[in-house]
Amino acid sequence: MLSLAMLATLTVVQGHALQLSQAHEPGLMAVTASWDDREIPYVRVGERWATVIGVDLDTGAGEYPLEIVRRFENGREAAHTDTVAVQGKEYPTTELTVAPGYVELSPENQDRAAMESQEIGAIYSTLTPEAFWTSAFEVPIPGTTGGRNFGHRRIFNGQPRSPHSGADLRATTGTEILAANSGRVVLAKNLFFSGNAVFIDHGLGVYTTYLHLSEMLVEPGEMVEQGQVIGLAGATGRVTGPHLHWGVRILDARVDPFALLELEPLAVEGR
Ligand SMILES: [Zn+2]
Repeated sequence: MLSLAMLATLTVVQGHALQLSQAHEPGLMAVTASWDDREIPYVRVGERWATVIGVDLDTGAGEYPLEIVRRFENGREAAHTDTVAVQGKEYPTTELTVAPGYVELSPENQDRAAMESQEIGAIYSTLTPEAFWTSAFEVPIPGTTGGRNFGHRRIFNGQPRSPHSGADLRATTGTEILAANSGRVVLAKNLFFSGNAVFIDHGLGVYTTYLHLSEMLVEPGEMVEQGQVIGLAGATGRVTGPHLHWGVRILDARVDPFALLELEPLAVEGR
């Protein structure tokens, strides 16, 4: 049988997720894609293989190679290279006023923030090679408004800081926060900037985070179901008032949480 490599150009916006799909073939036992110096595994979903990659907010517009390797039972390997065309997007600037201690950090808080940043970095670089999500992602506060401020360049008390890496959803203190999808809790603790924070690993490098909570109702290591109450909204950490900061990382890439809602489920129901 003649097998032709189908070369494709996939288009994605900065700060969005890209779903990858490959048809199943007899004897095919593993598929991987190389993206951002990482090998990303595909999972089998019925008659196809699928995975997801994240395109970071600061990935420049342009064309990037995406090498896809298929490994067969008989030891054969087939590789081809698709193209990912990243489109740029203009993000607005917002000015915010917070307690001065969150802008001019004391030496103790500087050390604390640096340690926490390392701990968080280690979480985001971990790839669990299976997918836990069996249905589409959902907004953690049903029916809420707001949340369209992903990627905004930010000036805190007159000083430029990192861009906003999540969506701020309107919530009063005590509002129930639901898991956006099934997964494993990998962090539930108080952080300097994020306040009380819950991180969920959904597999394949996809993480959702829920920050500034007044209460955390889950523990690290716990499996949670989509829609399970994982905490209550609050105003802990660097905030201007109570709200939910909902974040998404796909490995290290900062992705707009609302872009995640478009992903298809990758886990097989009832497995
Ligand atoms: Zn936020």
